[in-house]
Amino acid sequence: MAKEFAKAFYKSREWRKCRESYIAERRSIDGGMCEICHERLGYYVHHKVLLTPDNITDPMVALNHDLLEYACKPCHDREEGHFLDRGKEEKRFRFDEAGNPVPV
Ligand SMILES: [Zn+2]
Repeated sequence: MAKEFAKAFYKSREWRKCRESYIAERRSIDGGMCEICHERLGYYVHHKVLLTPDNITDPMVALNHDLLEYACKPCHDREEGHFLDRGKEEKRFRFDEAGNPVPV
């Protein structure tokens, strides 16, 4: 899932510590709910700034609580935009003469 350049980062002790303390902070605020829908518990700690090979080594970006967001799985997946999966989803249906979706 993680991009190749980010693998070492996500395994690093610095990130794990940062992630854990962010989750603890969110739990103390609202019990650890998703910051987007506030309906489900958070699942991913998401970087609001897209990590690149250039900024991933910058703690002010990669390890900055202000740039993190606790998100549930559905919200996180929507944010990342899995266009390939969405394409597959659309092809599972076609429309009949009455305009109703029918499985292909
Ligand atoms: Zn959510």
